[in-house]
Amino acid sequence: LSGDGESLSSSDREVEKALRPLSFDDFTGQYKILENLKIFVSAAKKRGESLDHVLLHGPPGLGKTTLSNIIANELESNIKITSGPVLDKPSDLAGLLTNLEDGDVLFIDEIHRLNPVVEEYLYSAMEDFRIDIMLDSGPNARSVQISLNPFTLIGATTRSGLLTSPLRARFGINARLEYYDAKLLTTIVIRSASILATPIDEVAAYEIARRSRGTPRIANNLLRRTRDFAEIKGTGKITLDISKIALNALDVDENGLDEMDNRILMTIIDKFKGGPVGLSTIATACGEEAETIEEVYEPFLIQEGYLKRTSRGRMATEMAFKHLNIKPNFGAGS
Ligand code: ADP
Repeated sequence: LSGDGESLSSSDREVEKALRPLSFDDFTGQYKILENLKIFVSAAKKRGESLDHVLLHGPPGLGKTTLSNIIANELESNIKITSGPVLDKPSDLAGLLTNLEDGDVLFIDEIHRLNPVVEEYLYSAMEDFRIDIMLDSGPNARSVQISLNPFTLIGATTRSGLLTSPLRARFGINARLEYYDAKLLTTIVIRSASILATPIDEVAAYEIARRSRGTPRIANNLLRRTRDFAEIKGTGKITLDISKIALNALDVDENGLDEMDNRILMTIIDKFKGGPVGLSTIATACGEEAETIEEVYEPFLIQEGYLKRTSRGRMATEMAFKHLNIKPNFGAGS
């Protein structure tokens, strides 16, 4: 019997925490970003200055939060974690900023969702390490300037296109995280399995990896669920057979695409004869925002070869037809 959803998800959260790499050397993939960050962090430490503000963008689950924690660890600084939608009022932000110690990291997840009034306050905080706060209102209203300890803001976003240009311009370091290939994900799955003390065959790790949509978070989730199958249906060891049984039982797509990926492809093929069709038309038909399709789903579908961008719109590839078991009708008309 499984526990209720709440305790399950909190134990999952605990495991997710345990699986987080804590240092640059422990982090797999994204090598170019890592090499640069190592240099910027060392240089800042050598000069005894705070690290320049960092913007991390890219689809969910690729390691933005993990990397932010690592940066703070490597700087030997504290990290305060918040998110755009939580910072409702300027006073919320002021409270956080005034409590930062010299060189601390402030991590703002979903930074594209900051309230514009709060964002405005962030500008002077980032640029000059000071904020102007209004005290009182009406005839007694006056503004006081508070100086802050130098700090590093790390902003994370899945939707870099939604960032205002004044905010974007205030980040000295800007990095886009890429999807992981199956080989890198296999390394991550094997590392996680060893932390969970679960024996796993390399072919099984690869099977989980290649069905994880290029995303470490998904790979770790699938590993945990597969481990359950191994313990109940097998000997505790994750073999290729067990991984296939588990992934099929979990309805994980043979190629790791998720429901929206498949819906997008099916829409293009079914409603628009495989395309070309415009992004906004696809978005309406799928009931998803165009920007989300463009920044979260499309990059993976293009990278994996299911989708093509042409000047006349998006087209499903032959691989997409095959994946969905539909006979292509290429060349019938032209
Ligand atoms: P994001 O903030 O981009 O949504 P997270 O940093 O929360 O993603 O990462 C999700 C999970 O995936 C984390 O728990 C972490 O264990 C794992 N993870 C992400 N990137 C890596 C990596 N490069 N190596 C190992 N594990 C990773």
